[in-house]
Formats: sequence, structure tokens, C-alpha cells
Amino acid sequence: MGETKDLDLWTTSPAISLRVRDGFQLESVDRAATVGWPGSKKEGNKARKERGDLLDELQERLIAEARSGQKRRVLLVLQGMDTAGKGSLINKVAGMVDPQGVEISSFGVPTEEEASHDFLWRIEKRLPKPGMIGIFDRSHYEDVLVQKVENLAPPEEIERRYGAINDFETSLVDDGVTVIKIALLISYQEQGYRLLRRLARRDKHWKYSPSDVATREKWSAYDAAYQAMFERTSTDYAPWYAVPADNKWYARLAVTEILTQELAKMAPRWPEMDWDVEAEAKKVLETIPAIAARAAQKPLEKQAAKVAEESKIYREEVFDAVRDDATRDGGDRVANV
Ligand code: AMP
Ligand code: MG
Repeated sequence: MGETKDLDLWTTSPAISLRVRDGFQLESVDRAATVGWPGSKKEGNKARKERGDLLDELQERLIAEARSGQKRRVLLVLQGMDTAGKGSLINKVAGMVDPQGVEISSFGVPTEEEASHDFLWRIEKRLPKPGMIGIFDRSHYEDVLVQKVENLAPPEEIERRYGAINDFETSLVDDGVTVIKIALLISYQEQGYRLLRRLARRDKHWKYSPSDVATREKWSAYDAAYQAMFERTSTDYAPWYAVPADNKWYARLAVTEILTQELAKMAPRWPEMDWDVEAEAKKVLETIPAIAARAAQKPLEKQAAKVAEESKIYREEVFDAVRDDATRDGGDRVANV
């Protein structure tokens, strides 16, 4: 059992409560809710930062693992209407881990070249490399969302894409990718306020596009496209999480928790080295004159053994605690080693 952390106030893990299962109805989601989190915003932000430390270690283990030939990686897909908070979520979540372990890709209106290929062409080029956390700011799902609502592709092509996406994600999972799909759900009213706030700030104008209003006017058509997307593409191997996002702090907290738990379930391990720690420690100790000179009182062998022993216990306990938490909290997805 993992130790209970003071700041872990979750009553139900968001990995369970926000997961899109059969029978999911988008219209019954309260987008201002803080599902499973009875604590305050302040406590939420604190808890997220605390989780960040673990996330950071898990990610480093994943990178280390890849060095020794493992292919595992994570793909975090973010979808949401304009102002849903994709950008600031990336800023906060990616900011908690080593930037060298994160690959962020944004997908906008397809270029001429991209449009001349199958819709997955540009996506495949941006898949995370082994050991990395890939974050998609919009994704192949735009091809069944905006393209459906705006009739940018014929209905039978949209229909084909749901299946193509499931096949594609199956192949990703088989190839060692943990696929986590996050839909940031804001309310119509909240989006109105956020767009106004953008307009009221010179430094936010670059994020605004006059077409945002036209998109907003099609709100219910987008809701319908999201509902269809959830029904057709939330699978056991690559589930969607419907995250209420009117409270930005809650969305960040929930996504951090889901991501950390998925990484913990992957259980990345520090790789075994093909050299002997104790022997190497002794060699290094011999090169440090101050230590080598005192070797008569404190034999180098003993010091080397101590170094080797310390390396074994380093943070293993912390790791086991998180993994136990994540497995206990369930999710039916197991590590695909
Ligand atoms: P933003 O994320 O606000 O910079 O805007 C990117 C824009 O590109 C959004 O309006 C998206 O709907 C649009 N977009 C992204 N992918 C596609 C796609 N496959 N087809 C059409 N529009 C897209
Ligand atoms: Mg935009």
C-alpha cells in the first residue's frame, strides 16, 4: 500500500470518474464541476505540484528505459473548443517535467501538402519517440470534429475516419504507446467570457481569431460531433477522458493525476547496467587523492560497497508507492510491457 499523502484529497480518481465509457452523454457533464475533488483551488494547485515531482521521476525512468532499447512512450492528445485551456494546460503540465522528455505538436488548418495526403499522414510524423511524452495540441480528431461540422469532408469519409483512427491507435498501442485522450470541456457561457477577456488584452490578441465567433455559433453542432467522437473512439486501449474545464485549476489537476497514474502503471524501471557499481565506485575512489590516502583507516572496498548499497535503495520506495496507488485506483488498463 502506498503511503497516504496529506494533499491527496481525491475521493474518486479522475482516471475512473472522468473516463468515457459506454452510455456516456456529453450533455449531462457539468463543465464547472470539480468531480472527485472536495478540496479548494489552493489545495488543488498544491496537490498538482506535489504530483509533479512524481511525474518528473516517472518520466525520467521512461527516458532511461528507452536508452536501453525499450520503445515505450506516452501520447497525450488534447482536444477542446477555443479557449478551453489546452495551451495553459501544456504550459503547466509540461513545465513540471524535464523539457527534454516532452515533444509538443500543434495541429492547425492542414497545409496544402498535408491536405494532399491521408489525414493521418501529418500525425504519424509527429509521434513521440521512445521514452518521450508526446503532447498533441489538437490532433487527428480535428478530422472528425471541425471537418464534420464544417463539411470539409463528405459524410462517408468522416465515417471511414472513425474506424481508421481506431485501427491507427491499435497499432500505436501495439507499438508501445500509451494513448491518453483528454477532452477539455468548457461551457458556452465560460467561453464567451474567455473570448471577451482575450479581446480586452493586447497581449492575448494573437490567440484570437475573428473566426472564433463563427465557430462558437455552431456550438451544438460541435457538441454533437464530440458526442459521436466519444462514442466511436473511446476504447479500452485508448480511452477518452471528459474533463470539466470551466475551472482551469481543476482541469490541470485532473490531467496531471491521470497522466501520473498512467505512467505509474507503465512502471518504468531504471535500466540494469552491465557493469558492477561496487567495482566502479572503487575505481573512482582511487582517483580521489584525499580518499585514497585515507584508505588504511577506511578500506576502499568498504566505501565502495556503501556507495553500491545506497544506489539500490535510491527512491525505489517512492516509486513503489505511486505504482501501488495507481493500480489500486484501478483503471482496467494494465502495463503493456
Ligand atoms: P488554434 O489551435 O486556435 O491555433 O487553431 C487551429 C485551427 O486549426 C482551429 O480552428 C482548428 O479547428 C483548425 N484545424 C486543426 N486541424 C484541422 C483539420 N484537420 N482540418 C481543418 N481545420 C483544422
Ligand atoms: Mg484558436
